[in-house]
Amino acid sequence: MDLLNVDAAIERILAGISPLPSERVDIGQALGRVLAQDIRAEISLPPFPNSSVDGYAVRAQDVAAASKDTPVLLRVVMDIPAGTAPQQAISPMQAARIMTGAPLPPGADTIVPVENTDSNWRAADGDSQFPAEVRIYSPVRAGANVRPVGEDIQAGQIVLSAATTLRPQDIGVLAALGQAQVPVYCQPRVAILSTGDELVNVDEPLTPGKIRDSNSYTLAGLVALYGGVPLRLPIARDTLDEVRRLFHDALARGPNIILSSAGVSVGAFDVVRTVLDELGEVNFWRVNVRPGKPLAFGHIQGIPFFGLPGNPVSAMVTFEVFVRPVLLKLTGRSDDILMTSAFVAEDIHSDGRRSYLRVKLTREDGRLVARLTGTQSSGALMSMVLADGLLIVPENVTHVPAGDQLPVRLLRDLHD
Ligand code: AMP
Ligand code: MG
Repeated sequence: MDLLNVDAAIERILAGISPLPSERVDIGQALGRVLAQDIRAEISLPPFPNSSVDGYAVRAQDVAAASKDTPVLLRVVMDIPAGTAPQQAISPMQAARIMTGAPLPPGADTIVPVENTDSNWRAADGDSQFPAEVRIYSPVRAGANVRPVGEDIQAGQIVLSAATTLRPQDIGVLAALGQAQVPVYCQPRVAILSTGDELVNVDEPLTPGKIRDSNSYTLAGLVALYGGVPLRLPIARDTLDEVRRLFHDALARGPNIILSSAGVSVGAFDVVRTVLDELGEVNFWRVNVRPGKPLAFGHIQGIPFFGLPGNPVSAMVTFEVFVRPVLLKLTGRSDDILMTSAFVAEDIHSDGRRSYLRVKLTREDGRLVARLTGTQSSGALMSMVLADGLLIVPENVTHVPAGDQLPVRLLRDLHD
């Protein structure tokens, strides 16, 4: 039987996925959520011209001849602390004492920093008495130290586009614009199922023949990382009753995606398959990928279902390759995989399937070099712990000599 091409498999999976509805959340809860609409500024920022320094608001032409030896003497007619609005205009040869962030008074076009005057007033003093006169020791360019209206944001401008994953600075902009609530995509709810007689919980003792369930934790982490809500279900034994009950429990939690790991490989005890046949339409794909050839995909009561391989590395890699695009599409995002390329430090042998090998990346003589992170066994989770990225050996390639360059899918930002 022909193996299914990786990209064709992704395409088939995505064909049936459409974005979730949106909801409005308080911006305090919006970090990491995905914008469902473009956000347009209703006001300009700053909303009024204001001073970027503590000093004196003047007319630049009045102080054009100022110097240390021949200061220009101006009459100080008002004080403009931050948070107030000037009550009068500046006339020729007048100045206003002004604080950082305070509005520029009409008539003035420039701020002279306090350092360039004979005034020793600092904003921090909280001194409400302003001097009657001020000596200006240097000229200033018209417009200097003034932040004009709309310098940061112009009213009407799109500040954030739909499908943006909100970062702290994005939320800051929303706050500055007075947008207390923000339209975001509902978060995909992802049920995570683990089955296997050999599995025990993280807090249970290891008895002979048992291993701890790690997949439900790595998968829950990946779901959260890509903006979903992980719903971890208790481990089910390999019996028809328990597995059947597990799937019913999963359905009862209203998931948008159901993930199970293990039980889909050839020769696996086939209770999972039996239950899948009862509850939905699931295809068992042989995808041209390593790790992770056995992959089940289909629908259970209309909900997209993935049967991921049980081996911990295979489960993670198949999640990255096949499930992540679904999470992104459910929240209006297109794929934004971080890719780079690297020179391989050693000969690499592959079996002709598209292989995702775990590599550590280092910069050597300006070139990015990839080294395998020890054993590439699909059960060796440390290969993922140590990896900076997944080196991709393309389909139909069986040998890559040291020194060749290959694409790498980054698992973290390299900050280089
Ligand atoms: P299976 O697909 O059931 O044949 O499992 C393949 C391998 O993955 C076996 O070595 C299992 O013990 C292991 N495995 C299955 N489920 C988990 C899990 N939740 N956490 C860690 N390893 C698992
Ligand atoms: Mg099993």
